[in-house]
Amino acid sequence: MTFTINTFQFHIPKRNAQCCKCNSPLEPSMTYFSSIGEENKEIKRHDYCLPCWNEMISMNDLQNNPTKKTHWKSIVAAKCSISKPPHNRQEKALELLKLALASDQKDDHEEAFVLALYLARSRLLYLRQQFNREDGCKISLYEVGATEEIIGVQKLELSRLNIAQIQNRISTKLSE
Ligand SMILES: [Zn+2]
Repeated sequence: MTFTINTFQFHIPKRNAQCCKCNSPLEPSMTYFSSIGEENKEIKRHDYCLPCWNEMISMNDLQNNPTKKTHWKSIVAAKCSISKPPHNRQEKALELLKLALASDQKDDHEEAFVLALYLARSRLLYLRQQFNREDGCKISLYEVGATEEIIGVQKLELSRLNIAQIQNRISTKLSE
């Protein structure tokens, strides 16, 4: 299987500062919903405040219904937690994950997949949703708890990976 940067780099836009329907600002600790969809090979993101989201669901407007798209629920991060967290092993793992996602090497994609699982277990990332791209690729959408950043990681088949070997490579990099 060959990967190219284009098939692997999966950029999800940042959360908008306002609800896309009523334009009210999304403030710290508010619950919001996000939906994404692919339009002309680009990812479009919409964020909704809770009342607008509920209204859209109750209207059952099938054509514009965001629940028909990949969507998830989140909470606006408190301002204080957006400041840079201490540099520890998990933070380093998150950096490694971002580096791996920017790479076009198959090894790096395997590492990204395993790192994301590790960071989700450590509750630094939250699995929000799965997105099926038009080309058939399955992408897991993880949210970085502290910053609300959404990271797309290609889903690989666990049974086809040599997990022990990948974990070894990761721990070598983490202790560098
Ligand atoms: Zn709204």
